[in-house]
Amino acid sequence: MQTFRPGHDAYAEEISGFQTSVATQPAVVAAAETADDVVAAVKYAAEHDLTVSVQATGHGLTAGTDGLFISTRRMTGIEIDAGKRTARVEAGVRWGAVIEAAANHGLAPLSGSSPDVGVVGYTLSGGFGLMARRFGRAADHVRAIDVVTPDGELRTATPGSDLFWALLGGRAGFGIVTALEFDLVPVTELYGGGLYFDAADLPAVLRAWRTWAVAAPDELTTSIAVVALPDLPFLPAPIRGKHVANVRIAYLGDDGDQLAEPLRTAAPVLLDTLKRLPYTDSGSIASDPPHPHPYHGTNATVEALNDAMLASIVEHADPETVLIIDRLGGELARRGTSGVGWDKAAEFVVRALSVVEDGVDAIKNAHAKLFDALAPWSTGRLLPFLYGEHSAAELATAFPAGDRARLKQLKAKYDPAGRFG
Ligand SMILES: Cc1cc2nc3c(=O)[nH]c(=O)nc-3n(C[C@H](O)[C@H](O)[C@H](O)COP(=O)(O)OP(=O)(O)OC[C@H]3O[C@@H](n4cnc5c(N)ncnc54)[C@H](O)[C@@H]3O)c2cc1C
Repeated sequence: MQTFRPGHDAYAEEISGFQTSVATQPAVVAAAETADDVVAAVKYAAEHDLTVSVQATGHGLTAGTDGLFISTRRMTGIEIDAGKRTARVEAGVRWGAVIEAAANHGLAPLSGSSPDVGVVGYTLSGGFGLMARRFGRAADHVRAIDVVTPDGELRTATPGSDLFWALLGGRAGFGIVTALEFDLVPVTELYGGGLYFDAADLPAVLRAWRTWAVAAPDELTTSIAVVALPDLPFLPAPIRGKHVANVRIAYLGDDGDQLAEPLRTAAPVLLDTLKRLPYTDSGSIASDPPHPHPYHGTNATVEALNDAMLASIVEHADPETVLIIDRLGGELARRGTSGVGWDKAAEFVVRALSVVEDGVDAIKNAHAKLFDALAPWSTGRLLPFLYGEHSAAELATAFPAGDRARLKQLKAKYDPAGRFG
């Protein structure tokens, strides 16, 4: 296994990732290729009393580190068991590779909006995917987790064990995952894409989307993103350089055009990209930015989306803030959860995200104004959509109080020195 220290040519490249607003200056970087490498790195950190962090892609960094940094990007093995409808992937695998491998067997994973996101970080964060209302969270389809715990042991955690529960939410605070086994679903195609409206029409579009999304079948997972698009040639002319409201749709039924019809009349449509597409093109639905950049974001789950809330969302929809509202419910409200809790009563999640230019304080203040206005209806937060630097206490607000207490107990059992996470 290669290791890198500050001053080494490859050091900066190895710690680079998608999120560039979190300052990371590890004392040593372990470029793991195998589970044994991870065991060796964890034992080294124990001997030298170093904190331990892990990165696959850097999409979900919430804190920097000055200790030992385990890079899993070389751990890219994927095995598909078509008979069992499962995948087993190593810690550095991104969703795009699983989508391609599963499609060869007529299957799909419960992946999210971006194929560049890492499977392990996404799943340990809960994993709210493109088919979440039909199948539930990715975390609730995990069969086994291979993990090196802080004592340096490589273990397999399975449903029912306290370690399994804690990892699905507690993430790297409970060890470094080396491989994950999870269910695939028999999906090869969906109806998906987006309808783009001018953000000036947001009040009408939001009202129409809310009514439509509340009545929608579980086969539909949908969100609405309000975003200022750059004036760049790769974007289609009708939306280039515009502040838009983008309804995003992933639908597993055959009557997609019929289903989407009420939305098409909500306001003048600037661009309509809805069509049947193979699951291998599912990354085109949200078209998340592919390039690393600095960003900060937070969110709130809410029990309703009433007119007062819609008015607050419209008021805070400025071009500096990307707002995304996702419809929850469906299987998300029914399925029992095997990891750290999920608020089944939440009907929507409202997310705010901004590019960091001059520090995060102004961004936090702007976001706080929106979430203060939504506070009377807020029920909690979703861990995967807390972006950029957040303290452990802030991350803990993503868990129900009972789960927080249990996580604290298990943390003392598995990581008594508090070096992981
Ligand atoms: C563009 C974009 C789109 C996204 N879309 C979605 C979406 O649709 N649905 C959704 O639910 N989330 C989504 N997310 C959030 C994403 O799931 C989280 O940010 C997740 O943590 C990213 O995991 P990663 O491995 O790619 O990132 P990394 O930054 O490499 O890892 C993030 C964290 O995951 C944990 N982790 C990673 N690898 C390991 C390991 N081997 N062992 C233990 N812990 C580990 C660690 O706590 C680590 O700090 C998106 C994020 C971005 C930036």
